[in-house]
Amino acid sequence: MPRYCIPELRVKRFFPYYAYLRPALGHFIAAIICGAIYGVSSGLGVPFLLKTVLPVLFGDDKHRALVLVPNWHGWVDWPPLTISPEYVLAFAVALLPTVFAIRVSAEFANKYLLSFAGLRVLEGVRVAVFSRLQELHLDYFRRHKAGDLISRIMVDTNHVKTVIVDIANDFMIQPFTFVSAIGFIGYECFKYPGMERFLIALAAIPAVVVPVRIFGKKLLYKSEQMLSRTGGLSALLAESLQSPREIRAYNLEANERRRFSELVRGLFRSQMKMVKYEKMLSPLIEFLSAVSISIAVYQAAQLDISQGDAVALIGALYFAYEPVKKLSGIHNRIKSGLAGLTRLEEVLNAPVEVADPAVPVELGKVRGEVSLDAVTFAYGADSVLSDVSVKVHPGEVVALVGPSGAGKSTFVNLVLRFYDPQQGTVHVDGTDVRKVRQAELREAIALVSQEPILFNDTIYNNILLGRRDATREAVEQAAEQAGARDFIEAQPGGWDAVVGERGGQLSGGQRQRVAIARAFLKNSPILILDEATSALDAESEAVVQQALEKLVRGKTTFIIAHRFSTIRFATRILVFDKGRVVADGPHAALLESCPLYRTLYARQMAGT
Ligand code: ATP
Repeated sequence: MPRYCIPELRVKRFFPYYAYLRPALGHFIAAIICGAIYGVSSGLGVPFLLKTVLPVLFGDDKHRALVLVPNWHGWVDWPPLTISPEYVLAFAVALLPTVFAIRVSAEFANKYLLSFAGLRVLEGVRVAVFSRLQELHLDYFRRHKAGDLISRIMVDTNHVKTVIVDIANDFMIQPFTFVSAIGFIGYECFKYPGMERFLIALAAIPAVVVPVRIFGKKLLYKSEQMLSRTGGLSALLAESLQSPREIRAYNLEANERRRFSELVRGLFRSQMKMVKYEKMLSPLIEFLSAVSISIAVYQAAQLDISQGDAVALIGALYFAYEPVKKLSGIHNRIKSGLAGLTRLEEVLNAPVEVADPAVPVELGKVRGEVSLDAVTFAYGADSVLSDVSVKVHPGEVVALVGPSGAGKSTFVNLVLRFYDPQQGTVHVDGTDVRKVRQAELREAIALVSQEPILFNDTIYNNILLGRRDATREAVEQAAEQAGARDFIEAQPGGWDAVVGERGGQLSGGQRQRVAIARAFLKNSPILILDEATSALDAESEAVVQQALEKLVRGKTTFIIAHRFSTIRFATRILVFDKGRVVADGPHAALLESCPLYRTLYARQMAGT
């Protein structure tokens, strides 16, 4: 492909991503070789076929020996390769399917091998983006909608793959068609004196760069707009499909339909703008080709050349334009790829704000001492925790209470190292958590949250997540301890019953018990119960409470609870207010000394 065809140097941005082609490099090279065969059989094979077969079928040549490869007026010392007169017709008839058999086989092999390479690249890029998401900060998921991220992984990766594989293929194989066709034209022109003027017909080729460039700029902008709209649509879909109950309960169906229709219409408009520029380019180039071909035909008509040669030349000219036409599509696809790459790089290059240390310290066997020393933390500008210092001894059961927004969940987020404090340090067994591998730290902590998330898998596998190498007996025992065994065995599928997306097939209490069974199985020295029973009715809560009471034994436990019933087995209570720990002690002492605690307690009692 001539150099002027390369649309802006930004295509360089794709170069590092060629690493994803490595697992399918053999297939890709084989695809290029087949593509080259296809290119030569088109650019040279078909015109040669026309030049050879037409005079035999429609002229006088059927009675003459046919010169296939001449010795170019004695320039080379082999005799010309000829077909004797009796075989000429049979040869002419057989040549057509032979050339086309080579052409279509090479085309199939090229496309098949290229698809293989493309799908491997797609797999690699998708895994890379997904892996990056696993490392990114929790805030990243607050700032980006799940649906938009899904769209980046499913849609944008496809555009990038197209550039890495399909366009690279076109860049490499199209020159074969182009050069063979031009070579054929050049050779024929050289044969007929006065035919140089035929070459004028090629002059329009560089002219196509003008519309290609103008449309390309527009397309980049439109592609970015279209991809971001696709992301917005996926985000709305994900949000809407995850909350059908709320939508029905608040009569939001019409509202959702309107929001969805507006986005679909917006996407339609963006897509139509792209279609306009994309589809306009090809006919424009086709028109330019038609003009040049008619000039060529006119030039040929002025000269005394055979009909067969004229048709072959026009065929070659058509194949010389074919790569140029393809180029216009390539240019569009590069623009879409660039737009997709920009969105993927936003994920791939997002900073990992909570990273593992280069040389981590081993925690070893954790006793469960947790301390926060002069910790100040803010999510944004305003401090959520201010100068908090707390030391919790191994095996202590500590409840965190306080008004909504006081910083209780933030406190445990720092223990789990979901965030790093701006000032002060968090220690586990005296080791700064920033010096430990996150996986090792979290191995020592079990979390049972307000809305336990179960994965769309069997109940057994959901419990097994607590400790993946656990035996069946250990899993069953954990379920027994969590008070979950009876309901599990009563399920139609028993242990192998699939719980549905986010555990939707189970009740709130059942989900909680599966999550508690998971924590029993994990048996880690530190335990965090975040509002673990808040969503339950009195009966379920009683069962879950019993299980929790067993679970916390011997473990350093943090219980966040608005219900005072949940914290009755806590030996120590931390009272939070506006990001500070304003009181610390056992229940009875706090009732005496802490007015805020007394108020919260009185409110609870009045409520119950
Ligand atoms: P509740 O009892 O209502 O759960 P809490 O005491 O656990 O509240 P936190 O969840 O720690 O309070 O929140 C403390 C403050 O930090 C609140 O003002 C909250 O809006 C803010 N906050 C919490 N999480 C984030 C976040 N990811 N980004 C920004 N602000 C946040």
